[in-house]
Amino acid sequence: MGKEQKKEMEKIICPVCKVNFCYKDDYPDGSAGYLCYNCGMTSHSKLIPDTEYLEKAIISTPEFINDNMFLDEKRNIYWFLSTIRTVTGIVFPEPDDSFDGWNWAVAKIVSISEEEQKDYPIPGKDGEFYTNRLAIDDATHFRKNKFYDACQELGGILKTHQE
Ligand SMILES: [Zn+2]
Repeated sequence: MGKEQKKEMEKIICPVCKVNFCYKDDYPDGSAGYLCYNCGMTSHSKLIPDTEYLEKAIISTPEFINDNMFLDEKRNIYWFLSTIRTVTGIVFPEPDDSFDGWNWAVAKIVSISEEEQKDYPIPGKDGEFYTNRLAIDDATHFRKNKFYDACQELGGILKTHQE
């Protein structure tokens, strides 16, 4: 096997919120990903204005997130609000008029008790029921620039990013 080293992620100043809590991840193909743990904005080096790559990203992204995309003029790429999915749940931006446009919602995957399972049939599978669900109804919320706290609430991620 090759002796490729696991490089440290580079910490940069986020172009969106200007806080030094953003990580750049260099991929083997020469591209790079970005994620800011302060404001939760994310980008990729291929999200260049007027490209097919950007168009495809926009098409597959909810309108609310597209409405809040940010042009990083220094790198000439667009940044988007991120959605993080893990085995324990999801962190996603939720429109919120009272909190600067949006907040971060954290919904955890919870198990469904046997008595409740009848209320959660699996579509197209007769007599089969979900045993866990994403508890969107019981989501916790974090302010716009508390993305890191939202991720911590979800748990199990960011181990390599802690300060
Ligand atoms: Zn930021």
